[in-house]
Amino acid sequence: MSKGSRQRPVENPQQFENNWEQIFNKKKVTKMINKAHPKYEDLTEEQEESIDALHQVRNILEKTASVSPDLAKKLYRLWYENEMTLQILWGFIPDYTLIKYWNYPHCLCPKLDNDDAYPTGYYVVNQGCPVHGKAVT
Ligand SMILES: [Zn+2]
Repeated sequence: MSKGSRQRPVENPQQFENNWEQIFNKKKVTKMINKAHPKYEDLTEEQEESIDALHQVRNILEKTASVSPDLAKKLYRLWYENEMTLQILWGFIPDYTLIKYWNYPHCLCPKLDNDDAYPTGYYVVNQGCPVHGKAVT
């Protein structure tokens, strides 16, 4: 394939602009903010953008953490701070009992028991959990 064959003239500039608009709108649709949240209506546009950005960060951290227990442990603190910051941006007083740490990648803490106990804060940590346990890694 020659280099020149990749370049095609834009036959319809309007079409080109429409594509960009589609990409832009598509991006808007994939916003990760919960619009059904009771506090959503009170958010400024900046707060909404920040929350959306931190949701993207959460996604990236969780995807990366899922690669290995070692990475999961290394990224946990960052993930945790991100969760606390999200609570602040939503207008809450940050509360660690609201963080469902047992859903974090590679966590072996008891999910059903902790879901049942939510949001009391009386959660169980599995000492053998590679993220939260005391096991030497
Ligand atoms: Zn755990």
